[in-house]
Amino acid sequence: MELLEQIKERYLDRLSPATFRSRLFWKTVEGLALSPLNRPQWKADRVSLAYFLRATRDAYLHRAPVVWCNLLTPSELVLGSGCIPFYPEMAAAVAASAGLAPRFIDRAAEEEFPSDACSYHRCLLGCALEGFLPEPDLLLAVNYPCDSAPLSFAFLGDLYRAPLFVLEAPLPGRERGVEELAGRMAEAARAMAGLSGRREREMMEGLSTAVELSNRALRHLREVEEMRKRDDCTLDGKDAMGNVSVLAGCLGSQAGADFYRLLAEELRERGCRGKNGLRIMWMHLKPWYSQTIFQILEKHGARLVCEEYTHATWEAMDPRDPFPSLARKLGGHFLVGAAERRVSHLVRLAREYRVDGAIHYNHWGCRQSCGSAPLAKGALQRAGVPTLIIDGDCIDDREYQEGQVATRLEAFLESLK
Ligand code: SF4
Repeated sequence: MELLEQIKERYLDRLSPATFRSRLFWKTVEGLALSPLNRPQWKADRVSLAYFLRATRDAYLHRAPVVWCNLLTPSELVLGSGCIPFYPEMAAAVAASAGLAPRFIDRAAEEEFPSDACSYHRCLLGCALEGFLPEPDLLLAVNYPCDSAPLSFAFLGDLYRAPLFVLEAPLPGRERGVEELAGRMAEAARAMAGLSGRREREMMEGLSTAVELSNRALRHLREVEEMRKRDDCTLDGKDAMGNVSVLAGCLGSQAGADFYRLLAEELRERGCRGKNGLRIMWMHLKPWYSQTIFQILEKHGARLVCEEYTHATWEAMDPRDPFPSLARKLGGHFLVGAAERRVSHLVRLAREYRVDGAIHYNHWGCRQSCGSAPLAKGALQRAGVPTLIIDGDCIDDREYQEGQVATRLEAFLESLK
């Protein structure tokens, strides 16, 4: 039985905000996670599981200052400053996997948060209003890929009386903007170091170590990417898509470097055991509460060989100069700037991974991805990659028409054969 299922079985009926603040709860969860019965698919997953359990436990038990972040907030900046990064968007995905998201989304609706807003944020707002999230000491939001985090974090900053820093990613090509962002990152790092009690020199050493560890993770991630381009690679996107949490929240830690090292090693060891079949690219994220799409893909001999959010988008950084390096990493992301950047990036990925087809999951309320989906579809089709757009919701299963999705997906996969 999966770890989440075991936790649900033991705790679901008596789940309360106090549960997450109890040492006994975390001891039980850690025991279940380390049990030989809980065998993750990949050795690397054990490293990321242990890291996130420890970080989440420490955030709830407030063992260090807690900093709330969104998807593109560099975890290196937070870890290097001696704080715990906490990603409430990931908490929303976990709530969805546990079948709890509708309850929190309904709570956000009671506060009149608009129903056409992203359900990741409606869910995390509901969780926060009910007291289910660890209190932040500071909130750090990047204004890309969307406005959701700066807006909901502003509300939550007031709720928790915690300061909010918004990192404005510069438009591509604006070197001045990179300098400004580096300055803003330095300001945020000093505020975080003030909370963790690190002096300037300790903070700079911490950041330098975090950047060095992030570079190590990047080297191994590039190896993983090269192996995934092969026909016989055994890593399927149904497992790899969850690695978005590692890419967002683990870089700058020893666990992040170990995760990608182990994954690369295991892929080399497992060697040529992958089956030939349809090679598919996945765009945006998946519904976290359902496995049906992956079962259908498997039935048709199709594999996800690359996903939009799980690969490296930056170059190695300079540990002696962390702020400009991290500013370049953030500013160079393909989701920063005009939609055409995202589209040309997706076309390049499709070519590199030699995909037979591509699927865009249109998450309800996500302007940045749904808005550019028709552009992406047009560009991919012109590049010879048949593309399917599926409407749904990553978090709220009430907005997911399973039968309709299955019919369209089956027809699409048949057309690729
Ligand atoms: S799903 Fe879209 S709208 Fe929601 S947080 Fe992510 S990028 Fe923003």
